Amino acid sequence: MKNGYLFFACFILSTFFLLSCSQKSDLLSFEVMNTFMTIKSYGKNSRKANLLAKEKIMELENLISVTREESDIYRLNHSDGKTVILNEESFYPLSFALEMAGATEGLFNPLLYPVIHEWGFTTGEYKVPEDIRIKDLLSYCDYKKVLLNPKEKSVKIQKDMMIDLGAVGKGYAGDQAIKILKEKGIKSAILDLGGNVQTIGRKIDGKLWSIGIKNPFDSGISLGLKIEDMAVITSGGYERYFEENGKRYIHIFDGRKGFPVENNVASVTIVCKSGLLADSLSTSIFVMGEDEAYNFWKSRSDFEMIIITKDKKLIYTKNLSQNISITASFSAVEVFE
Ligand code: AMP
Ligand code: MG
Repeated sequence: MKNGYLFFACFILSTFFLLSCSQKSDLLSFEVMNTFMTIKSYGKNSRKANLLAKEKIMELENLISVTREESDIYRLNHSDGKTVILNEESFYPLSFALEMAGATEGLFNPLLYPVIHEWGFTTGEYKVPEDIRIKDLLSYCDYKKVLLNPKEKSVKIQKDMMIDLGAVGKGYAGDQAIKILKEKGIKSAILDLGGNVQTIGRKIDGKLWSIGIKNPFDSGISLGLKIEDMAVITSGGYERYFEENGKRYIHIFDGRKGFPVENNVASVTIVCKSGLLADSLSTSIFVMGEDEAYNFWKSRSDFEMIIITKDKKLIYTKNLSQNISITASFSAVEVFE
């Protein structure tokens, strides 16, 4: 009988232990890449995994920041036309960003930094530059002039050309953080990297993650999105802008013209596996506008998208139909198929 009690007590204790292990979670918040990030992971290694993921994101910032003097990108931008050898983790997002520049024929342009700087978006000293000045600076923004050597991980840009990975950095950081979390055995996690959401698996209860997509016109949510194991990344014209003589100039630029985008798009959300792809596409699709975005989406099969226009139309790609629940009022709803 005594043995029976002992066995029962051991059984209860070990069940409790196993349950508490499987339910263990960790929430880690920190500030990096000029934004606030949160990682919530589930599993017995969640604390350690989160700390390692945070360390990785900080390491990446030190490699790809355009302003940190010790970063690879800073070194490249101040190389006076000499060849620079990069770390694999700065070479990869750079070559990816250049590929996206090619795929969008320069609408996405990671070489636009001199122009964006002239408009004051890097310093906060905003101004509308003279057309002639923009034209002049655009001669330093030709992404086709970047020479890459993938074998050596070396890059050569001409003097006064500058690379800016601002449109892809957070998405890439998310991918690398997820890689670490998975290596540590995490099977369920949600990362909010300054509004970019990336997930591993499903919620711990087996249900899909619910992501709120911001309403570009107020502080609320315009729709909910149910997903698993995906990145959900939004570019919004409301995120950073200045106004002059009643006109709004946003932080997303037409990569060919060197002007802030002035189309009918209010926000673009991309849903796909890779954070790097989603981040580069959210910016690219924003620049394209709805018609070109449709043709671009039709030509590929690696992402889904949601576009909210300035006249409050909601557009989404057909494969998201089952995942979306609309919470705000829209003037029209269109499904791309
Ligand atoms: P995101 O918020 O991901 O759309 O990225 C916007 C940031 O990317 C801006 O703050 C700029 O630093 C940079 N950027 C703006 N326009 C472009 C463009 N056309 N191509 C590449 N990067 C851009
Ligand atoms: Mg982006």
